[in-house]
Amino acid sequence: MATNRTFTMIKPDATGAGHTGAILDKIIKAGFSIKAMKYTRLSAERAGQFYAVHKERPFYSDLVDYMSGGTIVAAILEKNNAVEDFRTLIGATNPEEAAEGTIRKLFATSIAANAVHGSDSDENAQIEGSFFFSDLEKF
Ligand code: ATP
Ligand code: MG
Repeated sequence: MATNRTFTMIKPDATGAGHTGAILDKIIKAGFSIKAMKYTRLSAERAGQFYAVHKERPFYSDLVDYMSGGTIVAAILEKNNAVEDFRTLIGATNPEEAAEGTIRKLFATSIAANAVHGSDSDENAQIEGSFFFSDLEKF
């Protein structure tokens, strides 16, 4: 994946609360184009793999339960400077610290249930996109 791409998930709290359309609207209006997208669910095993970097953290098992507890929307997004600009659009991990107008400020309910994921580097955008989409070279 090129450096103008990032990977996102709309998390189960946000899909369950009916915010999927509003969040996609904000993403598109911010200038990202959706290159691939799917509604899906993560098993506990797959959620654990996705967030394996956090496996020693005290919140890991709650995070796995939460991410495997409902529908997610996984998507690959394209824009210049995609990784950094998307992290700005979603705001801080803790919605109480997120800037006004960011997706987490608007839609997240807690540091755990924080509405969206955004890749934190070009390398992880590539790895995470490949975790959900096996045919990346086609689009
Ligand atoms: P993400 O990787 O989902 O985009 P992030 O990069 O902002 O989030 P990370 O530090 O990677 O934050 O944490 C991954 C996820 O783990 C968070 O989005 C949140 O759902 C959960 N998490 C992080 N810190 C805590 C915490 N202190 N308590 C509970 N859950 C947490
Ligand atoms: Mg992260």
